[in-house]
Amino acid sequence: MSNSRFADAVRRRLGAAGWLDRSQIDAALVDFRGVFTGEAMGMARPASTDEVAALVQLCVEHDVAIVTQGGNTGLSGGAIPATPRSGDARPRLVVSMSRMRAIEDVNIERGTITAQAGVTVEELQHCAAEADRLFAPDWGARGTATLGGAVSTNAGGINVVKHGNMREHVLGLEVVLADGRVWDGLRSLPKDNSGFDLKQLFISGEGTVGIVTRAVVRMHERPAQQRIAFASLSSLNALNELMALARSAVPGALSALELIPEVGVAQVVEKFGVRRPLGIVSDWYVLIRYDAMRGGDDVARVDDDLTMLLNRALDAQLITDGVIAGTDAQESNLWVMRDELTATRSFGGFGVKYDLAIPPDRIAAFVERADTLVSTVVPGALSFVFGHVGDGNLHFTVLTPDVDDAPLIRAASELRTKLDGLVWEFNGTISAEHGLGRELRERVVGQKSDVELDLMRRIKRALDPDDRLNPGVMLPDE
Ligand SMILES: Cc1cc2nc3c(=O)[nH]c(=O)nc-3n(C[C@H](O)[C@H](O)[C@H](O)COP(=O)(O)OP(=O)(O)OC[C@H]3O[C@@H](n4cnc5c(N)ncnc54)[C@H](O)[C@@H]3O)c2cc1C
Repeated sequence: MSNSRFADAVRRRLGAAGWLDRSQIDAALVDFRGVFTGEAMGMARPASTDEVAALVQLCVEHDVAIVTQGGNTGLSGGAIPATPRSGDARPRLVVSMSRMRAIEDVNIERGTITAQAGVTVEELQHCAAEADRLFAPDWGARGTATLGGAVSTNAGGINVVKHGNMREHVLGLEVVLADGRVWDGLRSLPKDNSGFDLKQLFISGEGTVGIVTRAVVRMHERPAQQRIAFASLSSLNALNELMALARSAVPGALSALELIPEVGVAQVVEKFGVRRPLGIVSDWYVLIRYDAMRGGDDVARVDDDLTMLLNRALDAQLITDGVIAGTDAQESNLWVMRDELTATRSFGGFGVKYDLAIPPDRIAAFVERADTLVSTVVPGALSFVFGHVGDGNLHFTVLTPDVDDAPLIRAASELRTKLDGLVWEFNGTISAEHGLGRELRERVVGQKSDVELDLMRRIKRALDPDDRLNPGVMLPDE
């Protein structure tokens, strides 16, 4: 069947709004950073689970491969059709969840929201706030990233230190399988030990084993107020002790702990006109957030708690200065500082980028070794590190600001191989939050044992024997 006849069949089943031609979907064929591009015959836009199921059945009948797309904010290229392997002549179809935008139920007694996959993370946050609850997953792309994409990448963000990743938030899922059947796992039970917990396969499945159509997610109690402190570290070696102090000083209060380098602060100050929070300049800063769970006196106490933490950290010479945001404007100023780091870290040039994780207590040792490695392989290059250090998560980028990118481009492959090895030496992972996508699927082979790779491939084959769902993503070639 020709592409145009397939498009007609989709239009007949989903209606005119359910199809976009190739000429209308340029933006969907390049990722957020402009790193990954791909090709597809068009985009289908189902508006319900039944339509997704019917669409998958059409794809089975006409041997079309499917790439599911949410907000296209993923950072490993998984939402962009991969180049087909030789011998695979199947056309690619982008399936967008952009018409599945309903929040279907907010259940305060159960503490859950049931929503369709195309609802954004920010919409879930607003919905929870209206019910005086918290939907905790939160990161810079909140306004565009969707529930389905967040589930499929097991996204994390700034609140993981207190509330965990998406995996800890998903109670139930509805998924359209590769053969068009619908798996209704839309339960809202905190406990269910009735056999394999199948939803875990789709959480972080990156669209390779099913299309997530709906989910039941947890809400948490909403803090009455949150207070943020910004402090300059005496050195990166002080980080581990400071993290331990921030946790123990007031048990349960810590809800975010982010590492920010001076090189990033300088960029954000210059590019976004943000004011420097401190009078002094240091190599490293941390952003620490404490929650007050009740209003009134508790809010006063959280200020006291943060002040006490900063004083104790100063006395122990872990930090050299610190400030607590006193107003909403000061607070959002600090978050701009953190959120915009992602945008500035490439400095417009070529970068070797990592979203890695290592055990939190080894961060300083890792950064020291990684810096030495970078300067040995590419003299003059700059390592730029920031991230959710409370969970051991580092966004690590190597750049050559103000100089020629050519030496870094030439050395990129050698550098990646050596840095990957260093991450594994520290018992870490080369993908903390962003998934494997197209970017890391081959490199991850060095991180996984043969047994683990074999199990991953068997799961894929069991759920998608024809490799119809997101081919060329997540799983390394055999
Ligand atoms: C500025 C910025 C900051 C970020 N910060 C963080 C951060 O702090 N922490 C973090 O974890 N991540 C972060 N991310 C990346 C994060 O992975 C994505 O924002 C988000 O999880 C992807 O959602 P999306 O809807 O855009 O998915 P997409 O990018 O569209 O897709 C991502 C993957 O999920 C699959 N997929 C999408 N929807 C479905 C579905 N319904 N069913 C099955 N598969 C599906 C796609 O095929 C693809 O493989 C950041 C991204 C940006 C741009």
